[in-house]
Amino acid sequence: MSTLRPCAVVRGAQDLASAVACALTDAGYAVVMAEGPLPAVTRRGQAFADAAFDGSATFLDKTCRRIDDIRAWRDSGSPDIAYSTAPLDLILAALTPELLVDARMRKRAIPEDQRELAPLVIGLGPNFDAGGNCHLAVETGWGETLGSVVEKGPTRALAGEPKPVNGWSRDRYVYAPVAGVFQTRLDIGDTVTEGQVIARIGDTPIAAPKTGVVRGLIRDGVPLDVKQKCVEIVPAGTNVRMLAERPRRAAEGVLAAIRLRHGLLPVGRKAIHGVLANAAEGLLPPFARTLGFDAASLPGHFAPLVDILMAERAPELRERPARWLAHAIACSAFGQRHTWQDLRLSGRREVSAMFALHFPAFAARNTPELNLKWRRFLFHELGLRLGVPALMPPGCSACDGFAECFGDQPEGAKA
Ligand code: SF4
Repeated sequence: MSTLRPCAVVRGAQDLASAVACALTDAGYAVVMAEGPLPAVTRRGQAFADAAFDGSATFLDKTCRRIDDIRAWRDSGSPDIAYSTAPLDLILAALTPELLVDARMRKRAIPEDQRELAPLVIGLGPNFDAGGNCHLAVETGWGETLGSVVEKGPTRALAGEPKPVNGWSRDRYVYAPVAGVFQTRLDIGDTVTEGQVIARIGDTPIAAPKTGVVRGLIRDGVPLDVKQKCVEIVPAGTNVRMLAERPRRAAEGVLAAIRLRHGLLPVGRKAIHGVLANAAEGLLPPFARTLGFDAASLPGHFAPLVDILMAERAPELRERPARWLAHAIACSAFGQRHTWQDLRLSGRREVSAMFALHFPAFAARNTPELNLKWRRFLFHELGLRLGVPALMPPGCSACDGFAECFGDQPEGAKA
């Protein structure tokens, strides 16, 4: 039987919408991108828009697949991000999502009031009004407020010039001189020279504005309005398939908005349920049955572990849900199996996401260079505070990963 995750619908398929879809997937949502069959997206190397044309697209380490049957995708466990061209009301009726993110970034269009469409509706960018046409909004314009959550009132108006890339600003773009169907044989990542005809709209040639690499290019066959952005050329050597700063910060803003409204993200809720289920089956110490909240005697290190996590919870995460999760993690720390098993998560990757999304400052110290298993890292941090280097989790000696984790420890420390 499939495990159904909470659903999120993301409107749009360009770079910001795709970054949001990736972040929501890591947070534990089953994600559907709702967009039309011919998305007018330029930065397709940083987005899932090509799923509309090719059936699937990959970005970062994730795959997005075009689907025709929403319920079948849902019932199959929603393994990948889905791309649906179905009308939004049909998608919402099939999924009853707990979250809707409008990431269409339509610049001058005024969004309709969408607050009735899902329990939490988040609008990205100009023209959203938190409390007016969405519940919460996220700023997407460059500047200090990029990625910040707007709890009440409008977002900033559309303003400013594009952020330069090696000194190239708006002159690296081409805007459609006429309306019509865009035709091109080039692709993202191709090298072009200034003045080279790289596309046509009807009989009107579109020339490359610079010598460089194609980062933005409307897909062949997509109809455009006049003045719609259709080409972007960046200096040679620019990575045109990476997660860019603006989409990343907008996606972080969406996660912050969810924490602000809902507290824990789905992966955090799943970890708590996992600990309770393991405790009920006798796979964790008895105090885990109550997450350690009313246990008469807890291990001496339990409270300090909770304190470490609570001191470094995400800024928007309220005290009570953070404490539930910190207690669940502390309970798991006294298990005898791997952390992902004691939390009933799918593996180390999901455990890492759970820590990073709820206790980011704590997680950030487990750097790629350090790269400790999470239970060992918890006690490593606790040992630093207690002045007990190489403090060992109590259940590790029974673990099949002991040699890998503690093979570098002096014999005395392993005892
Ligand atoms: S020995 Fe390593 S892998 Fe095993 S439970 Fe301890 S920290 Fe985790």
